[in-house]
Amino acid sequence: MKIQNYINGKFVNPIKGNWLNNYNPAIGEVYGQTPNSTKEDVEEAYKAAAEAFPKWSNTSLEKRSKILSKIADLILDKIDILAEAESKDNGKPIRLAKKVDIPRAASNFKFFANAITQFSSEAHESVGLNAINFTLRQSIGIVGCISPWNLPLYLFTWKIAPAIAAGNCVVAKPSEITPATAYLLGEICTEAGLPKGVLNIVHGLGTSTGQAIIEHPKIKAISFTGGTKTGAHIAKIAAPMFKKLSLELGGKNPNIIFADCDYQKMLATTVRSSFSNQGQICLCGSRILIEETIYEKFKKDFIKKVSELKVGHPSEENTDLGALVSKEHLEKVKSFIDIAEKEGGKILFGGNKVEVENSKNGYYLQPTIIEVSDNKCKLNQEEIFGPVVTIMSFKTDEEALTLANDTKYGLAATVWTNNLNRTMQFSKQLQTGIVWVNTWMLRDLRTAFGGVKNSGVGREGGFEALRFFTEPKNICIQY
Ligand code: NAD
Repeated sequence: MKIQNYINGKFVNPIKGNWLNNYNPAIGEVYGQTPNSTKEDVEEAYKAAAEAFPKWSNTSLEKRSKILSKIADLILDKIDILAEAESKDNGKPIRLAKKVDIPRAASNFKFFANAITQFSSEAHESVGLNAINFTLRQSIGIVGCISPWNLPLYLFTWKIAPAIAAGNCVVAKPSEITPATAYLLGEICTEAGLPKGVLNIVHGLGTSTGQAIIEHPKIKAISFTGGTKTGAHIAKIAAPMFKKLSLELGGKNPNIIFADCDYQKMLATTVRSSFSNQGQICLCGSRILIEETIYEKFKKDFIKKVSELKVGHPSEENTDLGALVSKEHLEKVKSFIDIAEKEGGKILFGGNKVEVENSKNGYYLQPTIIEVSDNKCKLNQEEIFGPVVTIMSFKTDEEALTLANDTKYGLAATVWTNNLNRTMQFSKQLQTGIVWVNTWMLRDLRTAFGGVKNSGVGREGGFEALRFFTEPKNICIQY
């Protein structure tokens, strides 16, 4: 597959002719090329967006809504092609791409197609002063959307859909590691009747293409999802230019399990929250904290369940864990496993690379469980972002809460308990943007999504996203 940029409604090659290799992680081989766009390409994308903006920002909400809705329908029509492309590009099981990634990308467009028709602004009557204030929510202009490789189309569209629903025009960059479905989205947008220039997709490395987007003086807002280090870099560039910023960054999410929980539901969900997408979801619960009284039982049952997971080629329907996204990422994840014992950890299950039949150069790793006794270890403090979880026990609620909050990250937490008082105490005191109680990754797209501490700034989801992608302007009229 040769990927091209999508600028002004057309597919074009990068101006300077720089290309990157695109790997299929399931077999560890190059299968295509992706542009490594430079600032010249970003400038072309910006110009197309700027030309489209006056008309798009004045297009009626009904018309915008109809186009977004059509994009959603076309994504679902092409679910098989998109799921196959996503699975090949990323290494994720095709089953997961079909069940989660692609339907969710469609839902993102459908959701914001509807949300924009319900979005409203405020009016305040200044009683006694004969004045009325009303707030306009105006489109910002040209905005940049930059996304990571773990949920490629899902997270790309999570930004693009609200941005264009709110009347902005977009310069977007998917991860250079997983560009395939973003490329296919261009075609879908054209087919759905999205006017040229409203969405422009430029491909390439963060250091070239991404950097050109964040440095562009006329791109007024940046919505970014990715690593904490990259987020800090973006903030440094964007802050002196007073760009609006939304940063969705890394996590080190605790999964806190109490003895009074619904055990079987907890166990099945914990297997998913640990290893879905090879553990490469920012919301995965990578630190499992278990109440001491059920620790040994949990340990035995969890190891048994995890040992039944099948690591295999992503295209096979019965594969539970596919390949990790790249060789570099596999090595990074493995390096954490390699320090486990030095840090006083004990590998209870997994820890090794896997040779999958007919795909022996693919980037496969066993689901790995490591027992630790100290939350200060690297394994419990740094984001691994792979199929590796740690388990440790706690005695009291206070201890569990202290352990859960003892990290620089604050994205999500899961709590398993049937005690209402405890549910409320943890919900209020956990230092995270998201808390799930007796469930995991149940997503209602109306809710605020994002993290605190080093997990980011700002919130996505529902009207929060539409607020981010608009500028409020207050008008005060005295009569
Ligand atoms: P990354 O930060 O390396 O890259 C993310 C995106 O930023 C890519 O498109 C990349 O090309 C681009 N980029 C890199 N350097 C840039 C620069 N200087 N200027 C502009 N853009 C630049 O992250 P990744 O490895 O692709 O993704 C994994 C990370 O994403 C993990 O830390 C994970 O937790 C995080 N993540 C967070 C969420 C969330 O919602 N909080 C969701 C998914 C993933």
